[in-house]
Amino acid sequence: MIPPFEKLRKILKLEITRKYDNRAVFGGFPLFANTWRTEAQTFAVNNETINQVYSHLASYGDYSAEERANAVEKILALLEESGEVPEAPVQNKKDETKDASSVVPIPETTGNASSPQPVRTSNEKTLKQLPIKPAKGEAQLGIYAPITHINMIGPKNAELYKKLGISTILDLLYYFPRRYVDFSKLEPINRLHYGDTVTIMATVMNTANRVARGGKLQLTETIVSDGTGSLRLTWFNQPWIEARLKPGTQIAASGKLDMYLGRLMMSNPEWELLDQEHLHTNRIVPVYSLTAGLSNKMLRKVMNTTVSFWAPRLDEFLPGTVLQDAHLMELQKAIQQIHFPDSQDSLTSAKRRLGFDEIFLLQLGVIRQKKNLQLIEGKRFPSDDSFLAQLISHLPYSLTQAQQRVLNEIRSDIDSGRALNRLIQGDVGSGKTVIAALAIAFITHAGSQAAYMAPTSILAEQQYQTILRLLTTGENPILQPDEVRLLIGDTSTSDKEDIRRELSDGSIKIIVGTHALLEDPIEFHDLQFVVIDEQHRFGVEQRAKLRSKGTNPHLLVMTATPIPRSLALTLYGDLDVSILDEMPAGRQPVETFVVHPLDRERVYRLIENQIQKGFQAFIICPLVELGENNSDENKAAVDEYERLQKEIFPNHKLGLLHGRMKPEEKDKVMSDFRDKKYDILVSTSVIEVGVDIPNATVMVIEGANRFGLAQLHQFRGRVGRGSQKSYCLLIPENEDDLENERLAVMAETNDGFVLAERDLQQRGPGDFLGTRQAGFMDLRMAQITDLSLIEEARKQAYQIFEIDPDLAMPEHQALLKMVNRFWQSGEGDIS
Ligand code: ADP
Ligand code: MG
Repeated sequence: MIPPFEKLRKILKLEITRKYDNRAVFGGFPLFANTWRTEAQTFAVNNETINQVYSHLASYGDYSAEERANAVEKILALLEESGEVPEAPVQNKKDETKDASSVVPIPETTGNASSPQPVRTSNEKTLKQLPIKPAKGEAQLGIYAPITHINMIGPKNAELYKKLGISTILDLLYYFPRRYVDFSKLEPINRLHYGDTVTIMATVMNTANRVARGGKLQLTETIVSDGTGSLRLTWFNQPWIEARLKPGTQIAASGKLDMYLGRLMMSNPEWELLDQEHLHTNRIVPVYSLTAGLSNKMLRKVMNTTVSFWAPRLDEFLPGTVLQDAHLMELQKAIQQIHFPDSQDSLTSAKRRLGFDEIFLLQLGVIRQKKNLQLIEGKRFPSDDSFLAQLISHLPYSLTQAQQRVLNEIRSDIDSGRALNRLIQGDVGSGKTVIAALAIAFITHAGSQAAYMAPTSILAEQQYQTILRLLTTGENPILQPDEVRLLIGDTSTSDKEDIRRELSDGSIKIIVGTHALLEDPIEFHDLQFVVIDEQHRFGVEQRAKLRSKGTNPHLLVMTATPIPRSLALTLYGDLDVSILDEMPAGRQPVETFVVHPLDRERVYRLIENQIQKGFQAFIICPLVELGENNSDENKAAVDEYERLQKEIFPNHKLGLLHGRMKPEEKDKVMSDFRDKKYDILVSTSVIEVGVDIPNATVMVIEGANRFGLAQLHQFRGRVGRGSQKSYCLLIPENEDDLENERLAVMAETNDGFVLAERDLQQRGPGDFLGTRQAGFMDLRMAQITDLSLIEEARKQAYQIFEIDPDLAMPEHQALLKMVNRFWQSGEGDIS
């Protein structure tokens, strides 16, 4: 379905759950109708449909409850009927507005006091060139117009832009540079130093292709000179470069300086042909991510024209008070500066402003979503003290203070009449499973069903055993063993059938499993409680899907990724957050050492010694950056495994785990290790989080300098789960890395939250959380490394929300539009 249709469909679904209160969008449907129509029209689908939908939306406010329900149903049907993506974009739509056809499109303006005055830019000239085709009838589209409205972009070119995710002028304005080349900081060749990353500007003297490494490689070699000296540049397997770099050509090249036969050189530098633009107009030049057929030169030209014309015409959507309080650059200027910065300072301000926008819009949406969720009713489950006491008496230990606190939070949630939506954040080993299991007991005690989803079979099985022990054993078990079942990929077909039947007739009370739980045929009799373990391993849709198997079941998600509360509240803002900040008593901190690479022998002796005592060890192999499919990393692990088995530990049993193994194979190795079939497990970084192997007491991490703090901490969390002393040995690749700050912090503390704070200070949330975690918004200004900016944006969002929760005030209309646009780009979890 085309995006605006899909959006509307989601919103209407929400409206249904809200029982047609006209509040599924900020400001209500009539207000939303206009934005939606404008957007839908850019997709050039049947105008008839769009108008019909529009008229329903526009009158929605005046409808009775019954009429609203009817209207929603009709709209959904209309969307379904004609929402398919059209084969070819329709170029000329019906001429609806006759009065605006002869001039440059009128950009959207709010007409309020903060409405922008055109900013003077370095390229005023382009304004007169009318870069935007004044197409008939599309005048009102403004920045939402397709990019074919830009003179330089025809239908064929538009296809290329589409590959970059750019369909409208607004998309183009928000297509930010990947990096910049600062021509004000050029270095002459005779002042370059080995190891520096620099940009040079020089003239090509000579270029030649030759074959290297016995015919395996094509090498292109260019000598450039800038009058102060000459430099050799080389590229591998790009022979076409030869034809482009003829003697006399002026180029700019950026890269890291290397040494070859005692002379400086650059290998595989980024380069481009120079022209006037670099030399005179801009001192800091943007570099964009490209696709085949588009060059940076072309894109810069298009960008320059578009930005000059459209940036000054953008609506400032942030209220003046916010701009002032948070000291932000105005939008018009920020968009202009992010593409063509006048200085490093103004670039920084532009990034800060655009980063603020993302967090701020995210927050406003999150607050709204939270309010929505809070309206959803949830079945009440009274949690009686004596029942709890009886359950707890089954445990071989007593709960920590933190566990009790979090459990009480959950108890009051499930007895509140509203659906619980809570995230438990607790360091590895802090004991999250038992909390979930106890909460589940209240649900099943009342006769309802619960589902517990874990990312892998081995974890599912482990949690299944925990739950089974807690609820089906002892003097007065509260459930029979066959009322608790495990469903994983390996479950036999006939068992699966039984499970399905017994889930739908209600005889199974608790199901623990993997993604297998999401399969369609599975239906519940009365699902009231959903637990998602290691939630970052699941996408938002998967969460929603499991939840949709019940009617507003309570939802508990758990994660071992420790992040500071302010960040958690921002990223998971729609959930209540509980923090488990205490380790069970008797847990000894894992003793952590940074070991000199030459002292590996001592590490092996320690392992030997621990195995003698009946314990087990992990050895993690270094990250290898080469190779597209990690094949080198896997190979390195295989080699290391063979070496260790043959040369170091010939008398012990070693297991091997790497990324190319199938999930079932990995599970098998992990469970064999748990069952003590191996003494040592050699693994790449794929090793599972959350697996509990209390008998393992040594964690060796080779190439430790290559891992991030969060990951090192996760590895370390695999040991120290029993009561005996455990060790974590960090071996960096070479001596220099012994000074590595991260490794030092690891040796200093076992506290995941302290580590998280440190990591954030050093690298920012993007890095800390790893590659784009599922469930998080895709923030384009990924350079948001700034916790204080995040807090500022959060504070401002709450202030606006306090004054005007529905963004109904006239001065918030532009903001309202942006929030809706940001959230309806399909990213938000409107489910
Ligand atoms: P995680 O929070 O990493 O999911 P688990 O729930 O797997 O941690 O618990 C880790 C280990 O700690 C398990 O073996 C569990 O039985 C044990 N455990 C949990 N709570 C306590 C406690 N209060 N005292 C002692 N051991 C506990
Ligand atoms: Mg766990």
